Amino acid sequence: MSKNKITVIYGHDIENMVIRLCEENNLASLIPNNVQVGLKPNFVVAKPASQGATTHIEILEGIIKYLHQNKITDINIMESAWIGASTSDTFKVSGATRLAEKYRVKLTDLKQDKKINLEGIDVCCTAVECGFLINLPVLKGHCQTHMTCALKNMKGCIPDTEKRAFHTKGLHEPIGHLGQILKPHFTIVDGICGDLTFEEGGNPLPMDRLISGFDSVQIDSYVCQLMGLAVSDVAYIKIAESYGAGTSHIDSSTVVELNEPKDEKIPNSNRNFQKFDQYINQDSACSACYGSLIFALSHMDKSRLYAYNKKINIGQGFINKNIDGIGIGNCCSDCTSYVKGCPPTATTIRYHLEEKLK
Ligand code: SF4
Repeated sequence: MSKNKITVIYGHDIENMVIRLCEENNLASLIPNNVQVGLKPNFVVAKPASQGATTHIEILEGIIKYLHQNKITDINIMESAWIGASTSDTFKVSGATRLAEKYRVKLTDLKQDKKINLEGIDVCCTAVECGFLINLPVLKGHCQTHMTCALKNMKGCIPDTEKRAFHTKGLHEPIGHLGQILKPHFTIVDGICGDLTFEEGGNPLPMDRLISGFDSVQIDSYVCQLMGLAVSDVAYIKIAESYGAGTSHIDSSTVVELNEPKDEKIPNSNRNFQKFDQYINQDSACSACYGSLIFALSHMDKSRLYAYNKKINIGQGFINKNIDGIGIGNCCSDCTSYVKGCPPTATTIRYHLEEKLK
């Protein structure tokens, strides 16, 4: 099993999707005997996962069930909410408090933890000392760094004093450095409905997928593709790579998709979608596909879109339909031009639209 593999699964049955990812990656065989397994979700604020800011509790429940099935019971859910927020509140609202009681796993507020200085950065001891660390970030936008995912989620494993210092250092350099100091052994990205633009949620964008891998740099590079960003748009990724935290290289063999999105769910309307409604002709689009299109439109030069006098087609309703115009995804292969993929990445869509809407 290659540690350079990124595995993607689509759907809504989050718990079973997680178990499938763990099985696919033979996770239990990688965990040394008698070590504590740390679960590091993103519980940055006290909001339910449906708001797009925090990790779905079903992801943690799926992992705990998988670990228990494999006789691994020393599990510790650990987090430190952002500055000014109470971690115990985030544990309650996310469902982690209930989960810890139900499965008798530990729950650690890293704000109360001891710290250790590693290469000039203070890091919480519990995160450093656990024998196997599983990172559970949310795929979402960020107002300062454009995106936040695997690498930046480790910022929840440092004391508040160090978080403040990170901001004074411009975030990118210390996040990149931390990527080398505290490397998770495995990561499952919550790409169910992360917020498009802000870390604190409020505008969730359904993407209906989980992404797993071993290399945070590679995962974040792939997530850039999903969000319509270039890796160079998120400076800390290359900085982390330069520290030796991983590789940003992705080729055609890197990403393995275990299934295809096949639902016909129309995404919930919110203000981030509504502003693009008038440019989209949607018929039974999977939310995974629609989410890619929204990310692409969000990051591209809008003037080209505004000048285009047709709508962009997307959805299973366009299968075998000859349409004079642009289509998104394999369902639209009979459009005059279309973006390949099921679903295509936001970056592929963005480049196609920027080329065709010149
Ligand atoms: S190409 Fe079609 S089936 Fe595939 S994700 Fe898009 S809408 Fe769904």
